Amino acid sequence: MFEIQPFGGIIYGADYNPEQWPRDTWRDDARLMNEAGVNLVSLGIFSWAHLEPRPGEYDFTWLDEVMDLLHEHGINVNLATATASPPPWLSLKYPDSRPVTADGVRLEVGARQLYCPSHQPFRAHARLLVEQIAQRYGPHPALKLWHINNEYGCHVDQCFCALCAEAFRAWLQAKYQTLDALNDAWGTAFWSQRYGDWAEIQPPRRAPTFANPTQQLDWRRFSSDNILELYRMEAGVVRAVTPHIPVTTNFLGFIPGLDYFKWAQEEDVVSLDAYPDPAGPHPHLEAGMSYDMMRSLRGGQRWILMEQAPSAVNWRPYNAPKRPGLMRMLNHQALAHGASGLMFFQWRASRAGAEKFHSGMVQHVGPARSRVWEEIRSLGQELRTLTRLTGAQVPARAAIMFDWNSWWALNVDSKPAVLPLLPLVQKWYAALRSLGQNVDFVHPDGDLQGYDLVVMPNQYLLAQGSAQNIRQFVDGGGTLVTGFFSGIVDEHEHIQLGGYPALLTDVLGLWVEEWVVLPPGEHNRVRFGAQGEAHDVLHWAEVIHPEGAETLATFDQDFIAGQPAVTRHGYGAGRAYYVGGDLPQAALAQVFEEALTHAGVPTCRLPDTVSVSVSRLGGRSVLHLLNAHPTQALAFTLPAGGVHFEDGRPAAPSLTLLPYGVTLIEFEGEVALDELQLTQAPAALTLSH
Ligand SMILES: [Zn+2]
Repeated sequence: MFEIQPFGGIIYGADYNPEQWPRDTWRDDARLMNEAGVNLVSLGIFSWAHLEPRPGEYDFTWLDEVMDLLHEHGINVNLATATASPPPWLSLKYPDSRPVTADGVRLEVGARQLYCPSHQPFRAHARLLVEQIAQRYGPHPALKLWHINNEYGCHVDQCFCALCAEAFRAWLQAKYQTLDALNDAWGTAFWSQRYGDWAEIQPPRRAPTFANPTQQLDWRRFSSDNILELYRMEAGVVRAVTPHIPVTTNFLGFIPGLDYFKWAQEEDVVSLDAYPDPAGPHPHLEAGMSYDMMRSLRGGQRWILMEQAPSAVNWRPYNAPKRPGLMRMLNHQALAHGASGLMFFQWRASRAGAEKFHSGMVQHVGPARSRVWEEIRSLGQELRTLTRLTGAQVPARAAIMFDWNSWWALNVDSKPAVLPLLPLVQKWYAALRSLGQNVDFVHPDGDLQGYDLVVMPNQYLLAQGSAQNIRQFVDGGGTLVTGFFSGIVDEHEHIQLGGYPALLTDVLGLWVEEWVVLPPGEHNRVRFGAQGEAHDVLHWAEVIHPEGAETLATFDQDFIAGQPAVTRHGYGAGRAYYVGGDLPQAALAQVFEEALTHAGVPTCRLPDTVSVSVSRLGGRSVLHLLNAHPTQALAFTLPAGGVHFEDGRPAAPSLTLLPYGVTLIEFEGEVALDELQLTQAPAALTLSH
């Protein structure tokens, strides 16, 4: 397994694009990188046109010089394979290398990521370039990591051209072997879609109405696999030359195009580009969910935050800056969630090009008079006191089930309602985080045994093997919370008959007869107990028939008034809860708190503006406490017996954190999370921006 230690501490750096700047800037860059504490830069990500200005004509002189210069300054290199943006000559020489949309539009030259993954001459040119780079720089002492391509699937995650259609047919033949098997899986008896020849099968291009759902689902699987072939090709080239250098490609968190559970198995270390909206309600929750997915993809292995903005980005309609302290807080949060590297896009903010208004570690104003630079330099110094964290684990007793296959299936046309999955997962995630839990993401076929609680919001697609995995988990003593509209279809997107969710009705002690979709403007309500608090339910409610399950909350409106909304059922040595509607976060937290407490997991109750994580260093624990409130100071009562992580000073029993403030308290053994309390924020310390 890839270890972070060769870097001698926490990785700190950026994408470095020296080809955008005159040579006399480079030496200044290296000096400033030393000043900031930069120890790794990503180099050459968009350099294809500079490295191969004409077909087969390579020019490495500038890159030789930069590699040597960085090495002289003790800065390591994460060297890119430079294939992320083919040069104009390639796209013009091979017009059919340009990808095609579902509407049949072939994309044009002048932006980036302009390639069809099935185009063989593109693949051949890319391979030749990567071979040249690997052979030339494989022996270079600055090389410490390979960066394959860049943000695969960011702009083009599907290509509907004739070449991809051919590759899709080959993928389907390998999967189904016979046309009968495909016709059965795709349900082609409906709408006269039966295929009599493989050549008749097409990608789900723009059609008169809904394309076949299983065709759409298989197309998503194929498209992720087809792009993964490109990654495999390049990773294979560099691994053959430098088997000792780890390989990564930068992921984008929760993007719809690529099944990262599958992709991550092909990497040595996972890396992430995270751009939470600073103007959003809770940037730390948005970022934290991606951070936790990255840690989960390779079984808890520490990962690298490969890109983040030092301040503003340039690609939203309105791009808020990261106000003083937010950048530092989000980096502390990444460390708390398992990162061992903190890198930015990009080193120097560009003068020209599409991202010139994207912030850089060195802003347009230059370092001397820059607030961002001061924060960057200060963080670089602070990281030296946090090196021990690179050896920490982030143990989670609660996990959220997530599967790209289910997400794809849910997004296929013609459902009872439009159900965007990510906002729902974010809400369930926030509810668990508000109880002080570290949260993993786990695949339905993953190892559930290490968790006390597994929750599955809207796990629409559930294969037989996955259902069995869940049944064993509960039977063995685990606690499950299942959300509405889960376990509806199998891996071919065929309904599991006999009452929903057919494969788990015994575990849940109930069956669902039908659902009550609530269009915008309509709602139902749930009430926990006769005198309990009522919560609005939006979007979705269900008609639930208990068969052994106990009712915890009921709906109080419409024809389902008085009928179960939330239930609990003992199964084997475990427990299974069911949440039959889209409940607000507070109601979810109430269910999760009961489930966790029953499972013997300590909890605390915190607002969304506080982020708590716990990491483990051998027999010791580190409490990472962050105040994510932009203007309000917060005071806490701490568990007894802690010391400050950086210097071992005993921690006082109470603590005030300023807006975006961070503290790390270390404990012998476990952290008594139930002793952590938020006390009233002192009004005198309330700040405003
Ligand atoms: Zn194509």
